[in-house]
Amino acid sequence: MNSKRLSACRPQHRAHSTRLDTQGLAHGFAMKTLDPSSQNTQAFNTEALSLGQAQQLIGQCVEDLLQHRSLRTERIPLEEAFGRTLAEDITSGVDVPAHTNSAMDGFAFRMPPKTNTEPTNMRYKLVGESLAGKPFTKAVAHDECIKIMTGALLPLELDTVAPFESVMIDPLGERTNKLTWGQWIDMDGTRFKAGDNRRLAGEDIPKGARVLLQGQRLHAACMGLMASLGVAQVKVQALLKVAIFSTGDELQRPGESLKPGMIFDSNRYTLKGLLQGLGCEVIDLGIAADEPLALKHMLKEAAKVCDVIITSGGVSDGDADHTKAMMQDMGEVFFWKIAMRPGRPLAFGKIGSSLLFGLPGNPVAVMVTFLSLVRPALLHMMKRQEDPAFDIATLTALCEEPIRKKPGRTEFQRGLTRRNANGQLCVRLSGHQGSGILSSMVQADCLIVLEHERPDIKAQETVTLWPLPRLI
Ligand code: AMP
Ligand code: MG
Repeated sequence: MNSKRLSACRPQHRAHSTRLDTQGLAHGFAMKTLDPSSQNTQAFNTEALSLGQAQQLIGQCVEDLLQHRSLRTERIPLEEAFGRTLAEDITSGVDVPAHTNSAMDGFAFRMPPKTNTEPTNMRYKLVGESLAGKPFTKAVAHDECIKIMTGALLPLELDTVAPFESVMIDPLGERTNKLTWGQWIDMDGTRFKAGDNRRLAGEDIPKGARVLLQGQRLHAACMGLMASLGVAQVKVQALLKVAIFSTGDELQRPGESLKPGMIFDSNRYTLKGLLQGLGCEVIDLGIAADEPLALKHMLKEAAKVCDVIITSGGVSDGDADHTKAMMQDMGEVFFWKIAMRPGRPLAFGKIGSSLLFGLPGNPVAVMVTFLSLVRPALLHMMKRQEDPAFDIATLTALCEEPIRKKPGRTEFQRGLTRRNANGQLCVRLSGHQGSGILSSMVQADCLIVLEHERPDIKAQETVTLWPLPRLI
C-alpha cells in the first residue's frame, strides 16, 4: 500500500498529530468534510469528529488502500464457500430444471388439439410410468398416458399432467398402487388445459442467465443455488485477516480464578464473534498489559500478518492508556475522538499497511463502535455488497418514551421493539444503559440511533433502529 495516499485522508484539524502531511491538507476530502463551521456548534467539540465524518474518512482510507492493495481472490471448492464473498459473477451453464418434468403426482398425457367443441371425456391407455431418476423411455401414442411422479421427466410427446386426485380411475384400480398397465383412464377434459402441472426446462433459470453477482455473501440459499447449477469451484475474496487483542492490567482470561480488583476479558470474545459473523479470519493475540513495550510488541506482531488490527481499551487519556501513543509511535493515528456515545475515544490509523482500530475498553462501546465504524470498513475491504433488503438506516419506529439527548453527538441506546395495536413498530429503552453493561446488549433487540444534531426525544417521535439480530 502507498502510505502517502492513505495519509491524504487525514483530517485537517488533527490537533495532536505527530507528522503533518501537506498533501493531505490539499486533499479535497479533508477540506470538504471536516470544516467545523458547517457543524451545529452547540455542543460540538472541535477535537471530536462527528460519526458521519469519521465514517466518511474511514471509507476514504479504505478506498485508497484498495487502490493499492486489493484483497487476493482464490478459487475454492463449493463445500468451503459458505459465508465467503463471491469474487466473480455466476452464470448458469445449464437449464434449471434441466428437463421438462411433472409438478405433481398423476397421469401425463397429450392434450388433444383444440376443436370448436371442447373435449369433455377423454380416455387414455396407461402404458407405463416415469419416476424421479427413472424416466419412461418408450414412445407414447396420442391416446396413451403414463403414471408420473413429481419431478419425473415428462416424455417429449406429452404436455399435461392430471393429478391423481382429479382423475376418475376406473373401478379396477381405485387406488393408484393397484393400477395395471393397459387399463383405460377416464379424464374430464374440461378440467385441464395443455401445459397444466408441467415444469418446463429452463423455467427457473435459463442457461446463460447471471444468477449471482460478485460481492454477494454466500449464504445458504446461494450455496444451494450454485450446487443446483453444478458449480463445484467458486472464486471468492481471500479471507480478511484481522488481529485482535485486549489491553489492560486488570484483565484475566475466563477459566482462571479471578484475583482481587481483576475482571474477565470479555471484549476479545465479543470481537471474535462479531468478526466471525462477518466471515473474517481472526488472529487472537490475547491480552497485552498496560505497558508501552508490551503494546509495541503486540502491535508489531499483529501488523506483520494482518490486514486490520483491532484492540480494545487504553485509548482514553488516563495514566494507563498507552495504546494511542504506541499506535502513533509505530504508525499514524488519523483521529481518536468521535462525538458519539458510547464510544467517544476511538483511535483510527495504520501501522505499515494494516488498518488500525483502537476501540474503547467499555464492552458496550466496543460493540457500538464496531457496528458503526469497523463493520462498514471491513465489508468495504472485503468488497462485500450488503443485502439490498437490509439497509439498517431505514428501519424506523415510534419511540414510546422520552429520551434525553445532547445535540452535537450521535447517541446509541439499547432498545426493545414491539408492534402496537395498529401494527406499528414501537421501541422502548431496554433498561440500564451504562456503557459497561453487556447484559443489556443481550436483552435488547435493537440499537436506537439518535442522530448528531438531534435534541431530546419526546414520546411518540420517530427514531432510527439498527436491528441487532442481523448484526451480531
Ligand atoms: P479503558 O478504556 O482501558 O480505560 O477501559 C474502560 C473500561 O472498560 C474499564 O472499566 C475496563 O476495565 C473495561 N475493559 C477494558 N478492557 C476490557 C475487556 N477486554 N473486557 C472487559 N472489560 C474491559
Ligand atoms: Mg484500560
